[in-house]
Amino acid sequence: MTDNDGYLPLPKGFTTIAIHEAQDPEQWSHHEIVTPITMTSTFKQDEPGVFKYQYGRIGNPTREVLEKVIAKMECAKYGACFSSGLGAITTVIGLLENGDHMICMDDVYGGTNRLFLQIATKFGIEVTFADGDVDSFERQIKPNTKMIFVESPTNPTMRLCDIKAITSMAKRYKVMFVIDNTFLTPYYQRPLLLGADVVMHSLTKYMNGHSDIIMGALVTNDDKLGEKIYFLQKAMGVVPSPFDCSQVLRSLKTLALRLKKHQANSLVLAKYLETHPKIERVLHPGLPSHPQHELAKRQSSGHSGMFSVYLKGDLETSKKFLKSLKYFALGGSLGGAESLIALSTKMTHTSVPKDQRDKLGITDNLIRISVGIEDVEDLIADMKYALDQI
Ligand SMILES: *Cc1c(COP(=O)(O)O)cnc(C)c1O
Repeated sequence: MTDNDGYLPLPKGFTTIAIHEAQDPEQWSHHEIVTPITMTSTFKQDEPGVFKYQYGRIGNPTREVLEKVIAKMECAKYGACFSSGLGAITTVIGLLENGDHMICMDDVYGGTNRLFLQIATKFGIEVTFADGDVDSFERQIKPNTKMIFVESPTNPTMRLCDIKAITSMAKRYKVMFVIDNTFLTPYYQRPLLLGADVVMHSLTKYMNGHSDIIMGALVTNDDKLGEKIYFLQKAMGVVPSPFDCSQVLRSLKTLALRLKKHQANSLVLAKYLETHPKIERVLHPGLPSHPQHELAKRQSSGHSGMFSVYLKGDLETSKKFLKSLKYFALGGSLGGAESLIALSTKMTHTSVPKDQRDKLGITDNLIRISVGIEDVEDLIADMKYALDQI
């Protein structure tokens, strides 16, 4: 196990960063061990224009600590937090100009698809979609192409894209490469080290991990992009509250512990379901049966609690199965301590047209599972009971 099961090594000092980075108690007036929540909208200046902090949208001490921790976890120089994951992507759109073209992976979070197609296009940004293969992106590159946006693994079909291959292609064309790292977090995947320009997070999911906060983040190592992102954070104003930042900061201290349990539980459950006669197919990048299992090992350090299964049956079978579960709550989010389950066609991907869903394999018998950190025997028993009912 010392070789981390053939995956990339786990990041060293990850939890020490979560607990100590930018959190020296001596910087606070009462030497607080825990970063104080600085609830103030504005700050008194020493002299006109002389200040450490000016105004809460532009900078806040609690938010700044969180931004430094997230940046360090992703091996980045710059980190910025936003009021939601989509708020972070809204800010990414602000990096583009009217007339620019961007290519998005076809199998992304439904809200991301909607934001690009229904909002970005209103501001004169041209959006096209590619299937995740490096050639499918390269074929669409035009003189005005400025950005490639991907998720890996994707939601809900667990497809991976080759981050290094896309990086080197994007660099050849001087196209910015942005990746949504929500599903794996920096504990299991560090795309900046593989060459991506910007990493985006919905902190709402594993990073906060307790299903009680909506927040997002962007990180980068590029000086110019870092400066632009801070400018856009100030100018567009999609910022989080100091209280929410404090909650995420607390949650990050247990991120590695939680993810290990999410990973272990999801593997046990996925292996169980793979042998079950009422399951047609399991999609889990951590299983050898996944067509891109080797790629997963080459570019990540593990997999989280996210996977999907095709039931043998139709919409009615899926509904009956979902209704029979006790611990897996029917819900559209992921990454929390509580196990959640979703029927993508009716819940997370309603904004994606049916023909595109069919093409992607998002059908009425595809069930997306976010395995929590409950005791796995109970989760297996719950699944077994529900499968017995169909
Ligand atoms: C939830 C999610 C988002 C959107 O984030 P919010 O915090 O809900 O705005 C983006 N990408 C992925 C992969 C997500 O799961």
